[in-house]
Amino acid sequence: MITIHDTTMFPPSLFAPDGATGTGQEHAGPAWDLSGEYPSVTSPDYTADMDRLRGLITQLDAMSKPIADAVPRAAGLDPAKDRAVVDACQAFAGRLVEAFTLQGNLAVYANCSSSVDGSDDAAKTARGVLQTLGAGIGAAHAAFKLVMALCPDAFFEAFLSSETTAPFRFSLTQERKLKARFLPLDVEKTLSTMSPDGLSAWGSMYNNITGTVRCQVKKPDGATDTLGLAAAASMLKKPDRALREAAWRGINAAMAEHRESFASILNSISGWRYAEAGLRSHTEKVHFLDKALHQSRIGLATLNALMDALRASRELGRRALRAQARHYGVERLGPWDILAPAPARGGAGPGIAFKDGLEVVRRAYAAVDPSMGDFVSDMAKKRRIEGRVLDRKRPGAYCTEFPASRNPFVFTTYQGALSELSTLAHELGHAYHCEVMRDIPLVEADYPMTLAETASTFGEAALGDLLAKDAADPGTVFDLAWADAQDAATFLVNIPARFEFERRFYEKRPSGPVSADGLCALTREAWEEWYGDALSDYDDYYWASKLHFHMPGVSFYNFPYSFGYLFSLGVYAKKDELGPRFHTAYVGLLRDTGRMEAEDLAAKHLGVDITKSAFWEGAIDMVRAKVERFEGLASS
Ligand SMILES: [Zn+2]
Repeated sequence: MITIHDTTMFPPSLFAPDGATGTGQEHAGPAWDLSGEYPSVTSPDYTADMDRLRGLITQLDAMSKPIADAVPRAAGLDPAKDRAVVDACQAFAGRLVEAFTLQGNLAVYANCSSSVDGSDDAAKTARGVLQTLGAGIGAAHAAFKLVMALCPDAFFEAFLSSETTAPFRFSLTQERKLKARFLPLDVEKTLSTMSPDGLSAWGSMYNNITGTVRCQVKKPDGATDTLGLAAAASMLKKPDRALREAAWRGINAAMAEHRESFASILNSISGWRYAEAGLRSHTEKVHFLDKALHQSRIGLATLNALMDALRASRELGRRALRAQARHYGVERLGPWDILAPAPARGGAGPGIAFKDGLEVVRRAYAAVDPSMGDFVSDMAKKRRIEGRVLDRKRPGAYCTEFPASRNPFVFTTYQGALSELSTLAHELGHAYHCEVMRDIPLVEADYPMTLAETASTFGEAALGDLLAKDAADPGTVFDLAWADAQDAATFLVNIPARFEFERRFYEKRPSGPVSADGLCALTREAWEEWYGDALSDYDDYYWASKLHFHMPGVSFYNFPYSFGYLFSLGVYAKKDELGPRFHTAYVGLLRDTGRMEAEDLAAKHLGVDITKSAFWEGAIDMVRAKVERFEGLASS
């Protein structure tokens, strides 16, 4: 229920560091003011809420007993005869919202505190404690979830008949769709008990290896740097091409050294998923894509339509790569170039002071609707933007919301670069999404990854439009176009290649573990299919170096990126089409993102059918215009 959108999770192309602007404290952003939420993690207010949360969890435990007793006969529950169970479920749901709200509130505050100061031990301890308490809520919640999934419709309707429980309709209906896949309560509990040292442990192992691995980077000047993976990976975004290649080779050597471990991790995570899917297939067969589709709130027809449109347009992504190559003066880009920034221009620009940057974002938002411009001013006035340059601050940017006050806050480090201005527009988009949902119950405000980036990408597009019209200096125009081209290559080629690799891997996995060589071969096949001849070589160890394949909680964490990118372009295209009616439609769409499936949402608010390739092709046409513009600039 806590909405944290972390740009470090998203393809770095959108947030490529700007190598060509003056940076420094003189441009730095303001400090946020969290004191309206809590004074500090060690304050009596915070401690009191922590105690209150513990009390709530004890109550939830006790309240779940009669619900757990009803689980064995859940499928036959009767709203009249089992009135006591209806009452117990309604009371439980009310308390559950309280507990989630409080847990989220405390966790968001602890997270904000440690983001600004990584050495804040009290905040780190609080985060750890809250994780355990969160697991406690989850355990107390298990019986309720089962009863709600398995009970007959009449009982379900009786449960939803109160004002507090009515908002549960959408999220629980989603769960009920999977009712044929639930396991008996003791088996569900066994699975979640075994998972920390089973499924999840493989993810931890991946993090441990990649967190400690050393990459030998033989730099162009002859010296060799020994770097951690994060530091080496950040060199892939440097303007110096030889340095990028050296970093890529250093990373790949490190991946090759640990390839057996990485292959074990991928095979074990997928093996666990297959074993679990096997258990859940007692009534209907569970497919390896089902969970990802369910989490994305889309159907297979939509995924197929999206992938068909992408496949038909992969040449467009390759054209973007070829135009970038021309600008670097090479025939083809290497795999070390896919995150490359625009080639460095002589003479750094002056950078954009925070207040000027914010004013540009405000104007971009106001151009869509005056109220959106006011929102940006308001966020600054209420001090809900953190933009300072601080030693112990964590990298990246995100937007977060306090579930109790429903106030959104934006975290970023601002030093005056153009890419940081885009990040600001992006995160303020997330904040605007929170703002328009302020009065919507939290259970109806939890939107999926596929729709999460709608408002943020929209904010970036609005900024891009304004800058393209306003920017006096051609350097800024070129940098924006470069970022557009990189997005085209990322979302039309790289993300689909990731999807294709993962799909092929899952198809092969039932006949036994796939070796490290086999994984390299599958990667090559996928890259060949999508990148074609646009690169001088393929990234054989991408399966090892890309975190997303090794995350225990989510599979196919790739197609939602291309979905989100194209979907938000589709939304943005409606701006001119609907004119003065657009803003109302846009807000209506955002408000429904947590309580509708993506197909219904798009039909209701945009009048489009996303199960058909035509919608996606329309969005790709907008990308085509951007790529053509870049080709024009790159050849001039
Ligand atoms: Zn985002």
